[in-house]
Amino acid sequence: MEEQKLVIIGSGPAGYTAAIYAARANLKPVLYEGFMSGPAGGQLMTTTDVENYPGFPEGVLGPEMMEKFKEQAVRFGTTVLTEDVVSVDLSKRPYYVEGSNTKVLAQSLIISTGATAKRLDVEGTRDGEFWQKGVTACAVCDGAAPIFRNKPLYVFGGGDSAVEEAIFLTKYGSQVYLVHRRDELRASKIMAERAMKHPKITILWNQSLEKVTGDQIVRKVHLKDIKSDKIEEHEAGGVFFAIGHKPNTDFLKGQIKLNPAGYVEVKAGTSLTSLEGVFAAGDVQDPHYRQAVTAAGTGCMAALDAERWLTEQGLS
Ligand code: NAP
Repeated sequence: MEEQKLVIIGSGPAGYTAAIYAARANLKPVLYEGFMSGPAGGQLMTTTDVENYPGFPEGVLGPEMMEKFKEQAVRFGTTVLTEDVVSVDLSKRPYYVEGSNTKVLAQSLIISTGATAKRLDVEGTRDGEFWQKGVTACAVCDGAAPIFRNKPLYVFGGGDSAVEEAIFLTKYGSQVYLVHRRDELRASKIMAERAMKHPKITILWNQSLEKVTGDQIVRKVHLKDIKSDKIEEHEAGGVFFAIGHKPNTDFLKGQIKLNPAGYVEVKAGTSLTSLEGVFAAGDVQDPHYRQAVTAAGTGCMAALDAERWLTEQGLS
């Protein structure tokens, strides 16, 4: 079985940035970009304009940006495998990585498999319906799009993300409705107060989403009062899910230290995990910032940490 100096699992901004740095350091990284497990290129493949990534003053389409990340990684000598990693064995070194078609041994490993924004699965929100056409799970990525301007916008969730996204959307929507399934926010007190005091935010308590309807664009949300079961329609221009993320770490369970929410634990300020020679970057280890630029930054850190570690082991 082939032995590689560095295997990178995941192809979002973190994985590709790690690959660019590692390839330039002559580590000849092998990167599993995924296939069936989710879009190769990560969450940016499912968004439209990215306007907050430095260096693109006119904005850039998410998929176009990820294509450029990939091109840059390949240009410096990254081998990209278009397959999912189905299992790993991290019990001994070199680490064993099994893809859908290949098996490799890795002296070091960067985990950058990202996280998946949770979605409510109701009529009108699915792929082929209004998903990414007025229904999204990332206000920061999509909120500034023209379709949401001066429209009533609905954010679902009651945590810090929901509040933060609702506040963010007040810059664009005519009014923002924060819809929560209970009568108390999960968000921190300070964030909850901000939402409750904000003149453009109305909190709708004890409500659940029944369906989203429209024509070419979203026109209405149908909300059910959980206590009375009464359903009401409301005019809506956008639906934003902020009901949490799930880190893509199922394949790592029992092999590396994960926090209770399933994120890979890293030593603060580094990409070092509980295992020697295994590094983590991007959303898979970050429940807080979750931005392309922060993911890219931690990808760079992981490559530098891996390079240093390989050198220390006499393996580079
Ligand atoms: P979270 O704290 O897990 O909150 C998720 C929210 O979504 C909860 O209010 C939950 O309702 C609701 N929810 C979950 N599943 C649902 C469903 N099926 N239907 C309807 N509602 C549902 O997630 P988060 O807000 O993304 O925050 C994650 C972590 O990041 C937290 O530790 C948070 O403090 C942190 N964070 C911090 C900041 C900040 O400090 N500025 C910003 C963002 C995130 P229930 O409350 O009923 O469970």
